[in-house]
Amino acid sequence: MQREVLYAGVIVDVRAEAVDRIFQYSIPDKLAGKLELGHRVLVPFGHRRVEGYVVEFSGELEISADRLKSIIRLLDEEPIILPAQMELARWLRNHYVGLLSEALQFMLPPGNRYGKERVGFKQQQMVTLVNPDVELRANATAQRRMLEILLDKGRILASELVKKARASYSSLESLAKLGAVQIEDKVLERKVAWEPVSDPTLVLTEEQTAALREINKERKGSRRPVLLHGVTGSGKTEIYLQAIAEVIKEGRQAIVLVPEIALTPQMLSRFGARFGDRISVLHSALSLGERFDQWWKIYNGDVSVVIGARSAVFAPTPNLGLIVVDEEHEGTYKQEQGSIRYVTRDVAEKRCELTGAQLILGSATPSLESYHRALKGEYNLVQLTKRVEERPLPAVELVDMRREFEEGNRTMLSGALREAIAGLAGTENQAIILINRRGYSTFVLCRECGHVMECPNCSVSLTWHRSDNRLHCHYCLHREVLPPNCPRCASRYLRQFGVGSEQVQSVLNEEFPELRTVRLDSDTTRRKGAHQHILKEFASGRAQILIGTQMVAKGLDFPNVTLVGVLSADLALNFPDIRASERTFQLLTQVAGRSGRGDLPGRVIVQVYEPNHFAVQCAQRHDYTGFYRQEISFRRKLNYPPFSQLIRILCSGPAEETKEAALTIERFLLSRGVSRDNILGPAPAPIDRLKGRYRWQLVLKSEESLSELLHELPAVDPEVRVIVDIDPLFLM
Ligand code: ADP
Ligand code: ZN
Ligand code: ZN
Repeated sequence: MQREVLYAGVIVDVRAEAVDRIFQYSIPDKLAGKLELGHRVLVPFGHRRVEGYVVEFSGELEISADRLKSIIRLLDEEPIILPAQMELARWLRNHYVGLLSEALQFMLPPGNRYGKERVGFKQQQMVTLVNPDVELRANATAQRRMLEILLDKGRILASELVKKARASYSSLESLAKLGAVQIEDKVLERKVAWEPVSDPTLVLTEEQTAALREINKERKGSRRPVLLHGVTGSGKTEIYLQAIAEVIKEGRQAIVLVPEIALTPQMLSRFGARFGDRISVLHSALSLGERFDQWWKIYNGDVSVVIGARSAVFAPTPNLGLIVVDEEHEGTYKQEQGSIRYVTRDVAEKRCELTGAQLILGSATPSLESYHRALKGEYNLVQLTKRVEERPLPAVELVDMRREFEEGNRTMLSGALREAIAGLAGTENQAIILINRRGYSTFVLCRECGHVMECPNCSVSLTWHRSDNRLHCHYCLHREVLPPNCPRCASRYLRQFGVGSEQVQSVLNEEFPELRTVRLDSDTTRRKGAHQHILKEFASGRAQILIGTQMVAKGLDFPNVTLVGVLSADLALNFPDIRASERTFQLLTQVAGRSGRGDLPGRVIVQVYEPNHFAVQCAQRHDYTGFYRQEISFRRKLNYPPFSQLIRILCSGPAEETKEAALTIERFLLSRGVSRDNILGPAPAPIDRLKGRYRWQLVLKSEESLSELLHELPAVDPEVRVIVDIDPLFLM
């Protein structure tokens, strides 16, 4: 009888569809009985050696024996992909129609063990003097110099010693052989710091107490995700902190996801104050080495709370108890690159399901998807209806900019906002001014009547393309010339629209020289640490006005802010997108929530072109449910999410081949039973050329998952890249 031979199924770290499958390797004797699922290995692949991951074992050889190659060696002692992480990677690949090698990459420490971007622990050799009285040869002058230095210091870094004594490493090694010194390796952690504050645990309000009780009930019971819907300033963070404290008591870990970590310094400080050294903060400004160290600390269970942006959802906590997704509605939670374009909220939910952890989704303006699931009972809906300490929600005033224009005001500031800003002079009160820039230059608006040019076939605004000076619809093939007069009121003021934050700052500086301004946008925050610097200027009161784009709407908690001004608040409404109303409502509600968080009541002035739009009206009344009801009925009527799933298939490449690829995919879908009515396009993408590549897309609406079918998309011209985006946020 022959002993059963096992073969290892390995996924290799080569990002290409053709090789995104399991390759069989034989297991060398030295690894027999040692190799486990999730181990990282070095394998021969073609003429190269590459990193691979063991994903299965099998007793049957599926390739011819003469082609079988052997694993070269292990790259780590322990299997570094935990079983639940392996499961999660498989789900990512299947659900998002991507590469398994890429999904596994999310689960691994940053950098590679082999090949490019190699990282390791920062190791240093320490030399300690043990016996100064050894016999040295007469000509060993370098060794003698080293001993002298050691007599003085006792213990020193090897690199330093060798340099000081002008010696070589080999003479240091001889010293060790003689028994004069001991050399040991020491791992230096590259530490990540945050600003320390003191932050005592607060006594919860009645609503907060009830919310925490619900969370704990779910956590110890059926583990339904909790949707924590709490108005701005209702104290959601305190609930997270106390829920996490309980999880830690049980020896488990928590992951806290935030939309943009650079914008949450205050939150980080509070977590640091409560949990001290047991927290790990993962942010994009960390070096590769720093991220590497954090990863291993988490993997080894030396961290209790991981705080980070979307990719922290994959942090390798060994005994996960809780995931919090704060501001769950935020667009930054969508991965927009690579073959796996995941939605963080859904990944978090899957991970909780696989590990037995509890999920909390928190927001003042939940996404339609989440609220819909909550109403269906899939999530436990927990509400916080009041701000803490009985603080009122700020009053929101709408200013109709069409009327301002009629009355001869051609500037960007309405009379009301100008007056309110002037009122800051001589006080310690502060203002936040938001410029809503998203998509501003892509649509055309009449400054006289507010009319926006729309597609006659679809209910989306048209996009102006500089290249052919035409208005385009990105759902169908409609194109038209920009008319000289407004089709509604015949005025000549049909314009592409928008102002930038830089322009706003210079206007404010000119009109109000006594008020110091700072600006937070993608231009001013390119440098590392720029966010923190700008926010500090504002927090300290050195600057009285904070000007910015969408960034300033997120989570900031400054008690002296009594005024929030929003310029062209409803421009996002005309973004050619089914989520335009939702985004506008969220943005207005969130930015209004920055006002009146201290002892003084807040005022919010919102400049709009469509004051009667329901998204604007509901935001003014702080009426989430009113907004939800109208928007959900619109979605139901058009069979948009959450009633269907959107899938975008984007092809890019040379003009003819790209169009041909899109048509090939369309034919495939039709032949496999996808209904014509559920395919929008193929048509050129709204951004129809990017970096010299032409772009065509199909948008699918489906009530059931098409992922399995999409894994079988037909081959197209090799010059054309095809991206499948499940639940896309943007269709540009
Ligand atoms: P949200 O995240 O819901 O907008 P925060 O968690 O930032 O609200 O809380 C708003 C403010 O209220 C913070 O300054 C916080 O310290 C304070 N706060 C929260 N809970 C309490 C409480 N139970 N008692 C007193 N102050 C509280
Ligand atoms: Zn159209
Ligand atoms: Zn008009």
